[in-house]
Amino acid sequence: MFTGETCLNRVKPDTREAKTKGESKRGNREVKTDCIFCQIVAGKVPSEIIYQDEAVIAFRDINPQAPTHLVIIPKRHIPSLAQLTEAESSLVGHMVSTANQLAKREGIAESGYRLVINCGKEGGQLVPHLHLHLLGGRKLSDKLD
Ligand code: AMP
Ligand code: ZN
Repeated sequence: MFTGETCLNRVKPDTREAKTKGESKRGNREVKTDCIFCQIVAGKVPSEIIYQDEAVIAFRDINPQAPTHLVIIPKRHIPSLAQLTEAESSLVGHMVSTANQLAKREGIAESGYRLVINCGKEGGQLVPHLHLHLLGGRKLSDKLD
């Protein structure tokens, strides 16, 4: 359960490693070593991490679609929104709350921004690890697709 309070000072990367190929455990968190976002969480793939806490991590998108384009992900491997259990639903609230705080930090809270979660093939999801896009810093398209 998340309180909604988000401290944006916790950015120290988590360097504990997954031990085996495929799936393993880091603490009590599942790690999929063939997943690019799990590899970012594990510190195996470099990225510009701008925030992390016990549950989520946020980094700059490698192929930004707007002046500000951040990706907020759960540290635990959840393939997509479609696989989110009822018990995990508060995690999405925490991801949104984190995105709202990061929008303020990026200076786009006043001008406006867009939060997007792509789900599945026809939803445009390319990386099969649940993630929230934070886009802003320019006038975004009026269309949603
Ligand atoms: P989606 O199409 O919703 O699955 O979005 C996946 C996003 O992840 C895309 O915007 C990619 O540019 C981004 N991405 C993929 N690999 C990396 C990476 N190594 N570091 C940062 N962003 C990435
Ligand atoms: Zn993953």
